[in-house]
Amino acid sequence: MFLSVKDMELRKIRFDEAFEPGRMDFAGEELEQVSPLEVTGSAELVEHSEGEVRIRGRYAVEMASPCDRCLKRAQFPLEGTFDLYYRPTSWIAHEEEVEIDDGEVEIAFYEGGGIELEDVLQEQVLLALPMQRVCSADCKGICPACGRNRNETACDCRLENHGDERWGALRKLELQ
Ligand SMILES: [Zn+2]
Ligand SMILES: [Zn+2]
Repeated sequence: MFLSVKDMELRKIRFDEAFEPGRMDFAGEELEQVSPLEVTGSAELVEHSEGEVRIRGRYAVEMASPCDRCLKRAQFPLEGTFDLYYRPTSWIAHEEEVEIDDGEVEIAFYEGGGIELEDVLQEQVLLALPMQRVCSADCKGICPACGRNRNETACDCRLENHGDERWGALRKLELQ
């Protein structure tokens, strides 16, 4: 959905959409969209700003990716709110000259007369995902010795601790 600045000059744009899986591309991130991405919100021009746009809303979606530890599918129900400001790229030139007091607000830029809502949402989803994508906090992962999923089968491989080995070697040296 294209949020056109021309339309915003007339009135605030309100949106209430559900993007089915496949309409946004998450494949590059090894991510799968499981549920429709639901979003409601608005886009408007900031008064007396020469093209600054404010986009606000809330979204909910369920995403999935391979678990970082065991590679099984891990699911992430995400929801959140956003309140973002976008400036036309033509501002970049004079921003170097004029110090603008933005406080804590993060500013992005747009060109071409508006902003794709899908791009905004894609970024929000990627930001909302946890750093560690695990199927559960206590996922035991895959045994590096026998390759079994340790959540499903306990194995009795004894894993040598490389850290200790190195200490052992050091100690031997010291004794000589
Ligand atoms: Zn896992
Ligand atoms: Zn094992």
